[in-house]
Amino acid sequence: MGIVLGAIADDFTGATDLANNLVRNGMRCVQVIGVPGEDLVVHDADAVVVALKSRSCPAQRAIGDSVAALKWLQRRGAHQIFFKYCSTFDSTDSGNIGPVSDALLDLLDASQTVMVPAFPINGRTVYQGHLFVGDRLLNESGMQDHPLNPMHDADLVRVLAKQTAHPVGLVARPVVSGGHIATRQHLENLKAQGVRHVICDTIDESDLTTLAQAVVDMPLVTGGSGLGQSLPGQYRLRGWLAEVNEPGRLAPGTGGALVLSGSCSRATLGQVAHFLERWPGFALDPLKLAEDESHLEDALAFARACLLKHEPVLVYASADPGQVREAQSVLGTHRAGQLVETALGHLASILVREGVGRLVVAGGESSGAVVSALGIRTMRIGGQIDPGVPWTQTLTTESGPPLSLALKSGNFGGQDFFTRAFEVLP
Ligand code: ADP
Repeated sequence: MGIVLGAIADDFTGATDLANNLVRNGMRCVQVIGVPGEDLVVHDADAVVVALKSRSCPAQRAIGDSVAALKWLQRRGAHQIFFKYCSTFDSTDSGNIGPVSDALLDLLDASQTVMVPAFPINGRTVYQGHLFVGDRLLNESGMQDHPLNPMHDADLVRVLAKQTAHPVGLVARPVVSGGHIATRQHLENLKAQGVRHVICDTIDESDLTTLAQAVVDMPLVTGGSGLGQSLPGQYRLRGWLAEVNEPGRLAPGTGGALVLSGSCSRATLGQVAHFLERWPGFALDPLKLAEDESHLEDALAFARACLLKHEPVLVYASADPGQVREAQSVLGTHRAGQLVETALGHLASILVREGVGRLVVAGGESSGAVVSALGIRTMRIGGQIDPGVPWTQTLTTESGPPLSLALKSGNFGGQDFFTRAFEVLP
């Protein structure tokens, strides 16, 4: 059987967030990192989520990668394509939400799609086309200061209109609250007027369900991971999903347990302190990393000794803002970050080769560095550890047993995340 949903996500953690919601709602899901190679074979998956790095790159590159991913997903028989972006509609006047949506519509030979960024349980709602984060408009939520894609306007119809030459419309809340038939009719009316992109008001979970019912037959939908919660139920009603008891089932986790942390977020600092109350840890210092190899060798020796005793071990560069500032002022921000990321990648590749089979990484960029050092291209999504963070597992290859991997972006997870992650892994 081919896949039901093919998703194209514009960043890595966003892809995992969507995949996690799909699994929690009954779909077996595999995440692919980067445009899939033609020879990649995926078994036992209802959904494949392709994680691109296309949020902030030039529009032409975002289009090229997204179209290549779409072609791969089309060849695997995907019933519906989902273009996933951030629930805060992260983009600029030159893209990439509008240009990528247009390119995907063209290739699918479709004339309309919807934009559903909202995720009400996380405080992202849309009313009269305006995006709110909690009780603030998007442009007063802190997103106006984002370093890469500052959002200065909460009116998504106006924001998107700057990114596409095609008409942008709105399905307003009174239509959505009238139910899926009224919503679908409204979309048809807009289509007859040539409206190609439709922003959808969404103020609560029931709106997401209505929208999923209204758009389940569209070739392309776009939005945040909230919509990913509601679509699986519609696929099930259509009879597209096999009955599976445990969609997030992974092979039992085996091998040594290692935590690598390069995140300095408040949440991660709490998790590091909590872990160290019970288990050993080694603090990486970027200033010492810059001197010579010996600091990294010490970290490696420390981790090896703990792993030999079958103890979980933490290696962390996580530090309080004062220490981070100090390292950055001596080394420069970029170099300090690079030194840490390279060290984490190096430790991961050596220790996994030596038998670590359960690996937790804290930090978005840090996770990217580790995944790329390990050369990981695909992972099956398992059960959730904390909201938004599932266990994942690399697909079994001839080169060895699967690696269980939990990738946590900075602010996610409760205080006991690092210890509990290993407890909940089957
Ligand atoms: P988060 O998800 O919390 O933002 P990231 O891994 O994305 O975490 O980003 C943290 C960045 O800070 C990384 O580039 C990492 O290498 C860098 N970093 C980690 N520890 C330190 C430190 N002690 N001093 C300076 N930079 C650090």
